[in-house]
Amino acid sequence: MSLEVCAGDGGGGHGHAVVIGSGLAGLTAARALADFMDRVTVIERDRLPSGSGRRRGVPQARHTHTLMPAARQGLEQLFPGIVADLTAAGAVPVRMPQDMLLLGPAGWLPRFDAGLLALSAGRDLIDAVVRDRLRADPKVTFLQEHEAVCLEAGRHDTVAGVWVRGRDRRAPDGWSPRHLMPADFVVDATGRGSCAPRWLAELGYQTPRESAVRTPTTYASTLFAPPIGHVADFSALLLMGTPDQPRQGMLQPVEGGRWSVTLSAGDGSRPPADHEALLRAAGDLRHPLLREVIEAATPLGPVYACARTENRWRHYEKLRRWPDRFLVIGDAFVALDPAHGHGMTLAVQSALVLDHVLTGHGTATGITFRLRHALAQHLAPAWQASLHSLGAAGASPYLPPDGLRARLGRSWTARLAAAATTDEDAARLLLERLQTFDPPAAGLRRRELRAVLRAPRLTAAPAAPPSTTHGQGTRSRRPGTPAVPAIGVSIGSARPRATISSAHWSA
Ligand SMILES: Cc1cc2nc3c(=O)[nH]c(=O)nc-3n(C[C@H](O)[C@H](O)[C@H](O)COP(=O)(O)OP(=O)(O)OC[C@H]3O[C@@H](n4cnc5c(N)ncnc54)[C@H](O)[C@@H]3O)c2cc1C
Repeated sequence: MSLEVCAGDGGGGHGHAVVIGSGLAGLTAARALADFMDRVTVIERDRLPSGSGRRRGVPQARHTHTLMPAARQGLEQLFPGIVADLTAAGAVPVRMPQDMLLLGPAGWLPRFDAGLLALSAGRDLIDAVVRDRLRADPKVTFLQEHEAVCLEAGRHDTVAGVWVRGRDRRAPDGWSPRHLMPADFVVDATGRGSCAPRWLAELGYQTPRESAVRTPTTYASTLFAPPIGHVADFSALLLMGTPDQPRQGMLQPVEGGRWSVTLSAGDGSRPPADHEALLRAAGDLRHPLLREVIEAATPLGPVYACARTENRWRHYEKLRRWPDRFLVIGDAFVALDPAHGHGMTLAVQSALVLDHVLTGHGTATGITFRLRHALAQHLAPAWQASLHSLGAAGASPYLPPDGLRARLGRSWTARLAAAATTDEDAARLLLERLQTFDPPAAGLRRRELRAVLRAPRLTAAPAAPPSTTHGQGTRSRRPGTPAVPAIGVSIGSARPRATISSAHWSA
């Protein structure tokens, strides 16, 4: 197969870009390209819902997805006003740690204004709002129910298009015959299941070396309606794990006044499959608060499990021979264990890197070497941080032996985590670390040093959550119980409770 490279479709002269996949990496890459190319086509295998409907291609959407502050800021840069759009659609702003009860590795974090604002919403809603913004751009076209099957080679080591096939329910294999979509720039954003290594091999290129670090983490998620009259002085709850107890639980408010609850286990145990098991597993966390909060709530659907969480880096940046005008982005390039909710942040930031390089270079030709390296450089700290945290979570069988630097880094983080229980500077730094992906040993600053040196002994950490409505020393609010003064109040309507039965986390 070969095709003359198109010199563009007129307009600015940069031609037609094709983005394969309309997850968050594809949508944000399309946004960056739309500012530069004459037109952009987003190819998506699924039928795209008009609103925030569920779709097959993003099964992880059933699990709690938080737009961390860095992702929120990056999205706003790409789509000015989108935070207001998301909030108007029902996304809930969560000030970290002001609106959260957060049990860190060494104890409860104080609640204060750290200037860190996350957005909590169902993943389908986030995608829908971003998709709608792109749909409004006349340069962008969505080609839904179409699957990319391979790349088209151009002259002189370039990619010149994508072969696609459309869904055809009358065809014996369910697909129409494939056809070529010429393109001047192609982005693969097809997520963890990306076929780019095979597509490259078919064109005679080497396949990339892969670093894959299997993680033992499993996830179980479900939605709840809060009990009628529920009152709390927090809107989100995060109970982090520790090396000895690598189980984490989180509750995030999402659109429709609902709660998205996810439990994860970093010890490879089987995730709970139903609500009864989920409740028992919540009772096994480091603090009973999550269980106490959800046991009076109404389950709104099944419990979904996910165990496909390995860290995988396909080293495209290392390939010496590479077809120009082709880029791999998002989970298709580097996918991380979602324990820290980095994936969407990295997708958004990768689109910003694309935007920066395109603008700086002034052409989409001859930039993929630079782009691959810029992306790799940008993703490396998050990769390192994810591996460090795996080591810290006691998953050593899955990792090579630790070096001195990593051990020192972990001990430093442990001191910072202890300091964070009583010192606002340290708490802010701990939360920022989760944002910026600094490896533990890096970025030592005077403020951090001071905070860590005045860290209390672990026993000094407060044992009860910093809440006037929940936890030790307070009575859990039950429906109908008079409210004490509350900051964030979440009220939901209870439906008949689902029947609950069967087993919980089992090794
Ligand atoms: C349990 C869990 C919880 C998570 N929680 C968070 C969180 O709180 N915060 C966070 O930032 N991240 C979180 N993540 C990570 C986040 O979901 C991913 O990093 C993010 O979805 C990656 O986006 P993507 O666009 O690269 O891939 P995807 O979202 O997987 O999208 C890929 C798209 O490509 C389409 N596609 C695939 N193949 C083809 C083809 N051949 N042709 C056409 N279309 C194709 C698919 O249909 C899909 O639409 C979580 C992940 C998991 C598993």
